[in-house]
Amino acid sequence: MRKIVAALAVLLLALVIVVTVRTVRFAPVSREARRARTLPPENDSLLAEHLAGALRFPTISMQDSGPALAPMRALHAYLARTYPRTSAALAHEVVGPASLLFTWTGTDTTLDPVVMMAHMDVVPVEAGTERGWTHPPFSGDIADGFVWGRGSLDDKVGVLSTLEAVEALVTEGHRPRRTMYLAFGDDEEVEGHGAAAIVALLKARGAHPLVAIDEGSAIVRGIIPNVARPAALIGIAEKGHMSVRLTVSAAGGHSSMPPAQTAVGVLAQAIDRLEKHPLPARLDGAVEGMLTELGREMPLSSRIAMANLWLTRPLLIRMMSRSAATSASLRTTTAPTMIQGSPKENVLPIRAQAIVNFRIIPGETPETVLEHVRKVVDDTAVAIALAEPPAPPSPVSSTTSAAYEVLARDIAVLEPSAIVAPSLVIGATDSRQYAGYARDVYRFLPIRIGPADLDRVHGTNERIGVHDYARGVAFMTLLVSDLSSQ
Ligand SMILES: [Zn+2]
Repeated sequence: MRKIVAALAVLLLALVIVVTVRTVRFAPVSREARRARTLPPENDSLLAEHLAGALRFPTISMQDSGPALAPMRALHAYLARTYPRTSAALAHEVVGPASLLFTWTGTDTTLDPVVMMAHMDVVPVEAGTERGWTHPPFSGDIADGFVWGRGSLDDKVGVLSTLEAVEALVTEGHRPRRTMYLAFGDDEEVEGHGAAAIVALLKARGAHPLVAIDEGSAIVRGIIPNVARPAALIGIAEKGHMSVRLTVSAAGGHSSMPPAQTAVGVLAQAIDRLEKHPLPARLDGAVEGMLTELGREMPLSSRIAMANLWLTRPLLIRMMSRSAATSASLRTTTAPTMIQGSPKENVLPIRAQAIVNFRIIPGETPETVLEHVRKVVDDTAVAIALAEPPAPPSPVSSTTSAAYEVLARDIAVLEPSAIVAPSLVIGATDSRQYAGYARDVYRFLPIRIGPADLDRVHGTNERIGVHDYARGVAFMTLLVSDLSSQ
């Protein structure tokens, strides 16, 4: 007995030592070397004017009607007018109905190219919310230190800041070593056909992109619990999505003589099972990478947990599963969204149908999710089928590549106080078209997002700070220059 107690004591001591050593070593990474440079000053008001001009074209993507061609073409002409040197120095072409591809050929064409992505379309303003806008959504007003309008965060800011960067570099005589493509989609908010057409074209031309940079993440502040400093999140992966249709057929008839269970009852049971049996949580890849970087800056108790994931992983998973927001970063989510029975209150349904939407985490596939649905529903009366072609999750990009290092270093110049961390993008971006094609894909826009800004993206009063935008342009200039020279 005494031997067992002694052995346990030794084990416990060893555990305490391991946890302590790991926690002590788990210190913030010094980015001092990266802070040597500073961003050049920009002409804030001129840059704001340029962005505001682009916001005035209502390039709205509607669900079933493709890009809005007239405003899209007007925007093309505006960009050509606003960036004359870029238009003169770079090859440019319209791809598909209205996407744009610029090619800035490098001095060493044996090097793999870089693709700077963004999209020119915007989501519509939801009917009934127009009056909530302090400045109308397509006014491009500049007021109170902000540029106001749909697209100021998502994603004309990406298009315009990239073009400003290239225009400045062309003006100062910069020659890229590596070929740089600027790829601007026309329908990211609906199908992403534009980005797909650009990828098909680049493939046909034999290009093998080293890296694609797109929107999808930003510098966030006051959003992640226990992290006081701004966090510059680089999206190294994004979730996929799929919708499954559940169908139950029955004899129908009058509701006055119902069977023990109607088609609706059977369907409801299947949905209930799916909600009660979520897909398993996993804490790995992009999310583990994020927690590891952010954890270094957290208070001691959280730091101990993050430094010792080998021990605390199950506990962390349980804690993070409690909130919908953090749970979504751990697992493929299950969301029953649509349901349909009979068309009349006194008619038994001959068919009841539901759509369940899944957001697939990297590491799983549409096939594994479908397998899970079949196993959980476990009812031959329920027909299970894909409602539309699924979009698999993206591969997870490297956090040790030269391009990631360039991005992290340039972010440290933009925002010296920020913690740079990889992250998982919950929504979908055009960059999914580069899965398995570009060696790495990074999703990052040099914009600052606070708690109040989250609702502005796709919502009311979308706006960007005039000075913030100018710093974003300076960052993009640095990034394009560095990526094209490495
Ligand atoms: Zn977007």
